[in-house]
Amino acid sequence: MKAQGEQCKVALAELQVEFKRAPFSRGVATPIYVPSMRFAAIGLAPTFRKPPFVIDCHLALALTQVAPVLAEAGVKTLRFSSIYNYRRAIVGGKQKRSLSRHSYGLAVDVFEVEELDGTIHKVANDYHGGSFLKRVETLVNQSERFRLVLSPDNDPKSHSDHLHLEANVEYPATLAPQRP
Ligand SMILES: [Zn+2]
Repeated sequence: MKAQGEQCKVALAELQVEFKRAPFSRGVATPIYVPSMRFAAIGLAPTFRKPPFVIDCHLALALTQVAPVLAEAGVKTLRFSSIYNYRRAIVGGKQKRSLSRHSYGLAVDVFEVEELDGTIHKVANDYHGGSFLKRVETLVNQSERFRLVLSPDNDPKSHSDHLHLEANVEYPATLAPQRP
């Protein structure tokens, strides 16, 4: 796990993402901060929380690797509520016994997506009846850098207002970022 974390940091540095070590955070294998919250061509911005944000290196890497295809589709910023949060998973309206991937710093809850032209797409209002957010979901799923995105489509009870993106840590850290 430790070697995997070091390998991830090397890969992230090669992709020119600036990061620094974050303090011990229960559950997070490789806690880092990305002060700019820029992951190649896309940015992450909080909807209300204040930085800094603890993130596992593997989520930072997955975001950086999917960034080119998202940017190509017109994504500028993913606006999120939380990343690291030590708690149990909530799926289908029920709290599970298992820990949420947020406990590991491997997941991000995206409530809004800002397009390059400044248009803000809110998952709560614009997911159904629009194509942009569904396209984002599809591209993230196709990248294989994330586990299946939880969305208003596949988990309306607990994910009606956000997309839950969680890094697929099985994916080799050394692969080059995807090109559109
Ligand atoms: Zn989530």
